[in-house]
Amino acid sequence: MNRSHQLFTHAQQHIPGGVNSPVRAFRSVEGDPVFIDRAKGAYVWDVDGKRYIDYVGSWGPAILGHAHPEVVEAVQKQAEKGLSYGAPTELEVEMADLICELIPSVDMVRMVNSGTEATMTAIRLARGATGRDRIVKFEGGYHGHSDSLLVKAGSGALTHGVPSSPGVPKCLAEQTLTLTYNDAEQVRNVFDEVGDEIACIIVEPVAGNMNCIPPVPGFLETLRQVCDAHGAILIFDEVMTGFRVGLTGAQGRYGITPDLTTFGKVIGGGMPVGALGGKREIMSQLAPTGPVYQAGTLSGNPLAMAAGLTTLKRISQPGFFEDLEAKTQKLAMGLEQVAHEEGIALTTNQVGGMFGFFFTAEAPITRFEQVVRSDIEHFKRFFHMMLDEGIYLAPSAFEAGFVSAAHTDEDLEATLAAARRCFQAFENE
Ligand code: PMP
Repeated sequence: MNRSHQLFTHAQQHIPGGVNSPVRAFRSVEGDPVFIDRAKGAYVWDVDGKRYIDYVGSWGPAILGHAHPEVVEAVQKQAEKGLSYGAPTELEVEMADLICELIPSVDMVRMVNSGTEATMTAIRLARGATGRDRIVKFEGGYHGHSDSLLVKAGSGALTHGVPSSPGVPKCLAEQTLTLTYNDAEQVRNVFDEVGDEIACIIVEPVAGNMNCIPPVPGFLETLRQVCDAHGAILIFDEVMTGFRVGLTGAQGRYGITPDLTTFGKVIGGGMPVGALGGKREIMSQLAPTGPVYQAGTLSGNPLAMAAGLTTLKRISQPGFFEDLEAKTQKLAMGLEQVAHEEGIALTTNQVGGMFGFFFTAEAPITRFEQVVRSDIEHFKRFFHMMLDEGIYLAPSAFEAGFVSAAHTDEDLEATLAAARRCFQAFENE
């Protein structure tokens, strides 16, 4: 019996499901999760000493690879000066300046501790600024677990929102309209009907929580147009895509300017961080300058700022994203090619340092319903075979994968060789 299994059995006594975030429990792929002991560069090691090439990267933050020496040093230096003060620091000013410099749509930024906090605050701010309650999100889009955002719609676009979780008040869920990602016409129709009641649209500009789905041409443009026409606020949730699909995020990549943007993951360099930023007139409505309340004991935490700033400076170096994109492309295109050579139907998507793969003959994948239709059983088998091969993929068919600057050509080739062996084993079963 391995140590991961022992720990998982033990963990379930005092931690619900044995984990502190549900996907980690490997429920959707079945089997025991791997307990991690340490990580360095492109690799993680489990508590039994097995090494894996890691394509989860802490779900996005580890863009430089794990435990990057400069990030570790910055955190160590700051730790000696104190872990948290609950008072303003110069590091926070530097962080705000850097984010505003890198992301032109952001005039002001507020640091928080997670992506969930960032999106929760963004919709409160949008509601406060517009005086409207209804919000629009997209099915398969994940924006953290605050009440208003934990909602799926019924089949019709205007069906009242149905909570995705017990505990979300129905009256709140009803204010959330859930539409179809990449369906611009549906968005226009909904805004024609109730646009003047809508506070905001919140969207993952590249969907990363229904696997990885880029926006089709015209979709993000339509969101911008309807928000402008109806006085609604456009929120890009760039918790995943920010500093991941390019230095200027998805908004820079696709040339669309949102009113508010939420960040997380990469900006914390592996520490618990989120942020929301945007237009000065909206952001200044936050307390203490404005009436929309938001606060945090550990917000702008100096250790987190040190890790995040070091990471952001490093990824701002010329050529960083060209290199990351080339690696990610090599992996995604390689996976597709190897699968086809072995007679397996597989489609991949890739944007910047994000990728996704789907066991299906359909291509391209642009809609959530296509992901649902893909062969999830194939995914499960592939996931476990790859894990045995020492390749750590996201443990769900509905998650994006991440490549880091630390992944070498040899790592990518080893991954493709392992994938080929798995596909060959598929055929023999
Ligand atoms: N928004 C997006 C787009 C995300 O991918 C996530 C987390 N995966 C969140 C919000 C929530 O962030 P956190 O887990 O830090 O609360």
